[in-house]
Amino acid sequence: MKALVYHGPGQKAFEEKPKPVITAPTDAIVRILKTTICGTDLHILKGDVPEVTDGRILGHEGVGVIEETGSNVTNFKKGDHVLISCITSCGKCDYCRKGMYSHCENGGWVLGHLIDGTQAEYVRIPYADTSLYHIPAGANEEALVMLSDILPTGYECGVLNGRVQPGSTVAIVGSGPIGLASLLTAQFYSPAAIIMIDLDDNRLEVSKQFGATHTINSSKENTVERIMAITGNRGVDTAIEAVGIPATFELCTTIIGPGGCVANVGVHGKPATLHLESLWAKNITITTRLVDTVTTPLLLKTVVSEKLDPLKLITHRFRLTDILQAYETFGQAEKEKSLKVILSND
Ligand SMILES: [Zn+2]
Ligand SMILES: [Zn+2]
Repeated sequence: MKALVYHGPGQKAFEEKPKPVITAPTDAIVRILKTTICGTDLHILKGDVPEVTDGRILGHEGVGVIEETGSNVTNFKKGDHVLISCITSCGKCDYCRKGMYSHCENGGWVLGHLIDGTQAEYVRIPYADTSLYHIPAGANEEALVMLSDILPTGYECGVLNGRVQPGSTVAIVGSGPIGLASLLTAQFYSPAAIIMIDLDDNRLEVSKQFGATHTINSSKENTVERIMAITGNRGVDTAIEAVGIPATFELCTTIIGPGGCVANVGVHGKPATLHLESLWAKNITITTRLVDTVTTPLLLKTVVSEKLDPLKLITHRFRLTDILQAYETFGQAEKEKSLKVILSND
């Protein structure tokens, strides 16, 4: 089969690899129908994720059809259409029993990281019974690819951890796919204001179409002054960090109001300064989280009932065989005006 393979920092190839086989009775082999590229894949390609070794097939998102199941798989059979979660969960360890699948002792984020991933014609999914979801008949499978990772991440790490409330004020720093996923799912709670902050005017324009009440281009405007003007000098109730650099985290702790919540979503590679000298008395909460994907069933219902429309996040479509071109387009997001790209293998 063909797959997108990592060969060390800056090196990737779309090449022939052996088709995966069942190695444990709880495995399933899934034929990929649609997959996508994540910002995390770009981090891996830069060499930021050293656990990823030469020869690894990338990708942790997608939908597909069950090709084969191990003898212990009872929830799925050959021919079932499935949504692949970016988080593999055994369902039995202490962390899984607490709903913290991201820290599963036998899984967690392994796809396209510690084991071969979804940017291929076929993928082996361990613990298939508890790591795959049935796709309801008639559901839009492209839209559901957004449920493998970015929507649960934006919702769990941003909106739920950030305690977005009806009538509250929310600032989202970063309007890439994850920031936009937070923007879409924050609206479940009817906050009074959702302020999107970014450097890219196109993405800010997209944010407005997705329901942002205010946008701030932080390269052209004084972000803190604008936020204070919008919130009557209080600061926001929720600040969601969706970039992953020290400056944006520190901005969140500057614009947060008393009693507010800073929810970190971004993947950080460097230390950030925590200004306790100004924060110690502000009653704020700072949260971190890796997505658990516990909300995937809930989000699936909101997509099927059209309360949530993840298709909005898809800007480009390619055949899986054109994945190198898709990486180019996704990697030059500002120039190409790209959000999520879909790769089809059906
Ligand atoms: Zn991802
Ligand atoms: Zn587990």
